[in-house]
Amino acid sequence: MTSFRATYCPDCGSKLESQWFEGKDRPYCEECDRIVFQRPIPCADVAVIDGEQVLLIERTNPPHVGKWGLPGGVIEAGEPPEEAAARELHEETGLRVVPHNLTLITGYAAAAPQGWYNAGYTYAVQVADVSGEPTAGGDASDAQFWSLDTLRASKQELRPEPDDAAHIRAAIDEF
Ligand SMILES: [Zn+2]
Repeated sequence: MTSFRATYCPDCGSKLESQWFEGKDRPYCEECDRIVFQRPIPCADVAVIDGEQVLLIERTNPPHVGKWGLPGGVIEAGEPPEEAAARELHEETGLRVVPHNLTLITGYAAAAPQGWYNAGYTYAVQVADVSGEPTAGGDASDAQFWSLDTLRASKQELRPEPDDAAHIRAAIDEF
């Protein structure tokens, strides 16, 4: 399975035909006798909350380059969502959190530029429950605590998809 609609079989490399299955035309490999499903990308994000402030990263990878957003990324195969959230937090901000200490705030659907929806989880944790000092890494060029008001007053933008502003407010309310 792939996130783009596949043209060739990811296993044997044959050109895919199409087959009607469960109400849709699907890419199908005759050699392997299987449908190559197109799937959304599962993501996990973390809001580290310090009073009215939240730790944000400045994005260097599409989508939303140059905007600020919650640290997070794609859940890898074999990785529970909260472990993905903790790993991404460490990669992008240098902070460590025990996955068990993350509180699930919401699940979300985020419109992807290519026309589908990715599905994600937003977790939150209080700053007292993380260790380390924020240092940007991975696909982040900066990592710092902001209040949403200060961010807006500084003419900085928050990524609109997923709706980080709503998730951050929900996380602040949770604590
Ligand atoms: Zn095949």
